[in-house]
Amino acid sequence: MTNTQEHATWGELLYSAVHTPGKLLAAYTAFHNYSFGNALLALEQCISRKIEPGPLNSYKGWLTLKRQVRKGEKGLCLCMPVTYKKCVTGKAASETSDESEEIQNEVRQRFVFRNYWFVLAQTEGEAPYEQAIPGFDLEAALQTLGITRTPFDEINGNVQGFAHQRVIAVSPIAELPLKTTFHEAAHIILGHTASQKLVDLEQMDRNIREVEAESVALICCESLGLPGAEAARGYIQHWLQGEKEIPNQSAARIFSAAQTILKAGNSKEESQ
Ligand SMILES: [Zn+2]
Repeated sequence: MTNTQEHATWGELLYSAVHTPGKLLAAYTAFHNYSFGNALLALEQCISRKIEPGPLNSYKGWLTLKRQVRKGEKGLCLCMPVTYKKCVTGKAASETSDESEEIQNEVRQRFVFRNYWFVLAQTEGEAPYEQAIPGFDLEAALQTLGITRTPFDEINGNVQGFAHQRVIAVSPIAELPLKTTFHEAAHIILGHTASQKLVDLEQMDRNIREVEAESVALICCESLGLPGAEAARGYIQHWLQGEKEIPNQSAARIFSAAQTILKAGNSKEESQ
């Protein structure tokens, strides 16, 4: 991802979502089968072009749904993976063989931005199209992710929850138990808990790991319309006052972790 392109970076998209209540919900509602980075990217373009956000598909994809993209409609730009073959030369495996070098085609992947997508509002056709918003089952998500709950055994009454390896616990008197559950699960998905136990107090530490986990909690809570988004937003906004922005690399990890959790609670859909 570079800043020279006309679209916003992941960091900018996350910053804007953190400062605009409702944006994540709108993005998830309209574009839940896309990654969060792409969903926010699509939403930004819809807003700036005054197009109703809604189900997305390619030109051909709409045709198979018996809908035609209207003449003159310009596609929305999303990030997509492309695979390509690269010729690599390598020495033959055996030392005793002749000196001929093997030429192999190695399959590699990179990400490019393409204007291939159109929302429902840019199409016409006789067949109406409706997209169901996926349901979410938190315990099923934890199970799918291989995360188990352990009894809460911290004596400090300020501790909201903790995470260690693939185990989480949430205080029975946590202020926002769902937000804390997403936060602890996020620590695990983000790889924070492999070597240490993370204990979360009501006043969270100001470090990038906490911002990452809390951003995932924000995305999950807001996308699902669950309580906790406001508190998460407050913490992240406060953090952002000191730092200028959430680094792009963190933003990409945050989007991916949130997507992983939301998908895990909804086994029926495939992500693009
Ligand atoms: Zn934490």
